[in-house]
Amino acid sequence: MGYNVTVDTDKCVGCGECADVCPVDVYEMKDGKSEPSNAEECLGCESCVEVCEHSAITVEEN
Ligand code: SF4
Ligand code: SF4
Repeated sequence: MGYNVTVDTDKCVGCGECADVCPVDVYEMKDGKSEPSNAEECLGCESCVEVCEHSAITVEEN
């Protein structure tokens, strides 16, 4: 069991809050946007979804 983590780059403003809050370092900041490079590590806690003020993040069980 794992999670699909996606960032809508049109909504992301690159604030880095998701990268700061994620306990397992799923996110990397690249070219001013957040990228879920390590999505296989995701625990499904949804802290990133809650912290993103721009509703750019989706976390779904797969
Ligand atoms: S918290 Fe949202 S807006 Fe900020 S970097 Fe992450 S995805 Fe982008
Ligand atoms: S749901 Fe939790 S573990 Fe998964 S990317 Fe977001 S903050 Fe990280």
